[in-house]
Amino acid sequence: MAHTSRVLIEHQCPQCGAPATLEETDHLFTCPFCRVKSFLTSRDFFRYLLPHAPRAGTEVVYLPYWRLKGILLSSTPGGVKHKIVDASYQAVTSPLFPASLGLRSQTLKLRFVTPETEGRFLRPSVPVRQMKATAEEGFLGPLPKPVFEQALIGNAISQIYAPFYVSARSVVDAVLNRPVSQELPAEFDLGQFPGGPPDWQIRFIPALCPDCGWDLEGERDSLVLHCGNCKVLWQASRGKFSRIRAAHVPGGGGGGLHLPFYRIEATVSGIQLRSLADLVTLANLPKVIQPGWEKVPFHFWFPAFKVRPDDMLRFSRNLTLTQPRGELTEGLPGAGALHPVTLPLSEVTDGLKIILASFVKPPQTMLPRLREVTIKPKAALVVYVPFQEERADFSQPEFQLRINKHLLRYAKHL
Ligand SMILES: [Zn+2]
Ligand SMILES: [Zn+2]
Repeated sequence: MAHTSRVLIEHQCPQCGAPATLEETDHLFTCPFCRVKSFLTSRDFFRYLLPHAPRAGTEVVYLPYWRLKGILLSSTPGGVKHKIVDASYQAVTSPLFPASLGLRSQTLKLRFVTPETEGRFLRPSVPVRQMKATAEEGFLGPLPKPVFEQALIGNAISQIYAPFYVSARSVVDAVLNRPVSQELPAEFDLGQFPGGPPDWQIRFIPALCPDCGWDLEGERDSLVLHCGNCKVLWQASRGKFSRIRAAHVPGGGGGGLHLPFYRIEATVSGIQLRSLADLVTLANLPKVIQPGWEKVPFHFWFPAFKVRPDDMLRFSRNLTLTQPRGELTEGLPGAGALHPVTLPLSEVTDGLKIILASFVKPPQTMLPRLREVTIKPKAALVVYVPFQEERADFSQPEFQLRINKHLLRYAKHL
């Protein structure tokens, strides 16, 4: 299994100021001193800083790098291939600076960039879309051709700022105090790169239910919290919690684990996929289309939690082909543990075309048509599916799903 890196962030409790260390995947912070729970959010993504000891008389600028952790799915003639991606890319392209952060972000504790952070921060010139396209291209090499479609499901996109200064006609890495560029032209000036003081704010929201005031529950890496009193799911957006729709498949009993899935209603164009009847035709399922199936809406299913790529594909394909419907009950399950939602919906939607690619028949004629297909999500529901604990696995006999306990725990760090 590919190993991915873990980045640590130095931080202070917003309530009592006690020092703390966070993992980059942490969202729910419980202070070990004052016990206050807060939820960490930002407008778009988190921005971190590589710490350094400033040298007297040097003018430091911070160059942004995109950091990307995710899963790359590629539809090829031999089926869907996957790869775990853990990389950094310049967000300001310049040959004078290192092309990536290398291993430094894994050996140093990072800090959040806040408006109080001093220094000049160069303005990113590479948008996130472009960075993802570069990453996808970079991994095309060994894949069987043609590659019909690629999706990068990045579950952690952030920016890391690295400090540099100019000394003796060279760009110097301010962390290592080591030159990183060739000899600079005499007229070179770091001021030519647009930038300024940082104006991003991370926000801490008290993790309290907006309806009843109870402490919200979740794991450190949960993107969605729940109120055990109101039995409602809450998601932070724009600095406050808003309620999101949830449902569950009954039958979990008390001892099992509920895994969260997104059930996504989407507008599909370029191919007919609106109803259960369309699915049976498109996937050539061994079923006789029943009267009324052309009116039963089709939904994509996708795990709402981090999981290894092969499990991710198998789970979404199985549930999408099964189309659970009659058995859904509105709201959260009454008993049993809830596995945290750790994959944002926005990161999942790119993968829907790959799921489609995994079942369209016949692939020889259908896969080349994927380029003309667009999938636009309209509505989503978080559905908790009960799994039974068996020796090494959690299993779901009804939908024929199974996952190894150890791998599920390990997938947190993907
Ligand atoms: Zn505290
Ligand atoms: Zn409540």
